[in-house]
Amino acid sequence: MWDEDELDQAPIEEGNIVDIISHDGIKKGSEIVRVHCFVCGESFVGPKDRAGIFIKGHTEFHLWEITLHETLGGL
Ligand SMILES: [Zn+2]
Repeated sequence: MWDEDELDQAPIEEGNIVDIISHDGIKKGSEIVRVHCFVCGESFVGPKDRAGIFIKGHTEFHLWEITLHETLGGL
């Protein structure tokens, strides 16, 4: 689940402020947040940018499910 290379100091827990070293660079002062999907209840704990990807991903997925359901006529 977690694909960042290194976490400096603090663990991944909600409310912590951490520096994250990855291939893209160093993110300093990233706040760890908890988000959850209102549709399926899955949750994510991590930095805000990843939380945004989680929310965006679930939104796209669940909209796809609705579209598929409507396309197939309720199968
Ligand atoms: Zn979901």
